Amino acid sequence: MKKILVTGGAGFIGSHLCARLIKEGNEVICLDNLFTGSMENIACLMDNPRFSFVNHDITIPYDCEGLDEIYNLACPASPIHYQYDAIKTIKTSVQGAINMLDLAVKTGAKILQASTSEVYGDPVVHPQHESYWGNVNPIGIRSCYDEGKRCAETLFMDFHRQEKVKIKIIRIFNTYGPNMHPNDGRVVSNFVVQALQGKPITIYGTGNQTRSFQYIDDLIEGILRFMQADDNFIGPVNLGNPKEFTILELAREVVELTGSESPIIFKPLPHDDPKQRKPEISLAKQELGWEPRIQLKEGLGYIIEYFKEYLKSHTV
Ligand code: NAD
Ligand code: UDP
Repeated sequence: MKKILVTGGAGFIGSHLCARLIKEGNEVICLDNLFTGSMENIACLMDNPRFSFVNHDITIPYDCEGLDEIYNLACPASPIHYQYDAIKTIKTSVQGAINMLDLAVKTGAKILQASTSEVYGDPVVHPQHESYWGNVNPIGIRSCYDEGKRCAETLFMDFHRQEKVKIKIIRIFNTYGPNMHPNDGRVVSNFVVQALQGKPITIYGTGNQTRSFQYIDDLIEGILRFMQADDNFIGPVNLGNPKEFTILELAREVVELTGSESPIIFKPLPHDDPKQRKPEISLAKQELGWEPRIQLKEGLGYIIEYFKEYLKSHTV
């Protein structure tokens, strides 16, 4: 049994990770300030004696004894949420990373950073391989997130070189699944909720921009395989589904699968919205024997069922 700290554990990805780590017999401390996460996401874990929740903001140092592993996921991830208080978002990525890396130095724990495909910005190299340095606007409205995450990667590498911390860096591509915040503005949750409520499906821009959508279970499997892999394999490693779709194709798929009568409407494209996004995953395949198993149609089926149930008891 390992003693594991998960920051951002009450969020979408964090709650799935906590559940899987508990299922595998570990002791899990979930650290979260509940900015975008919710107690509902971890309600099924609260009775487990190996699980504990601590309401804490990672921009403030946290002390804990005897940790084996830290998964640093705390950070708002959707544009609406990370732009709500941009300065706080950077502090969470940068000061939060320093605090968690200091804790790793003190405890000797191995630490994983949840980085993002956003470090590639609006990529001019396609698909994106880990060796690509990216095309990021340093002063735009997405920069608080993109540059914060890039700086966190730098910090992880420097703590590794200077302090010999055992690190792992993943670059997560667009991921969806149950426990996503229904109002966080991300495209999959938006389209599914809109379709189920018979409201217009809002495409930003022409809908010709692309993304590659990964189902949550595939991501969690990749994260665990990476954490268990040889300590010399530190990444960064892309974790994403390489099947690329236009946003228009996604909208049509959601309409078809829900049987919705929602019209598709077009709204202005947000600033700096990346035109394309597709992971090159040969490194993860080679080093982790990992590749996504759940394709879009199947995954959308699961999230549609989730939101159908959710909407019966929640007003969105
Ligand atoms: P989320 O918003 O659902 O979860 C983030 C969690 O972090 C929430 O529970 C929130 O309350 C918590 N949090 C935020 N600021 C905090 C702070 N200062 N102190 C403590 N807790 C704080 O988002 P998610 O989709 O689950 O993303 C989790 C991680 O994965 C994030 O770091 C995100 O950048 C990264 N990521 C996600 C995606 C994706 O498609 N979902 C893609 C790339 C990277
Ligand atoms: N998007 C859209 N309609 C929505 C929400 C998002 O067309 O209701 C677009 C958005 O402009 C972007 C893509 O879908 O081009 C993915 O957006 P999301 O916020 O989910 O992820 P990110 O842009 O961070 O990859």
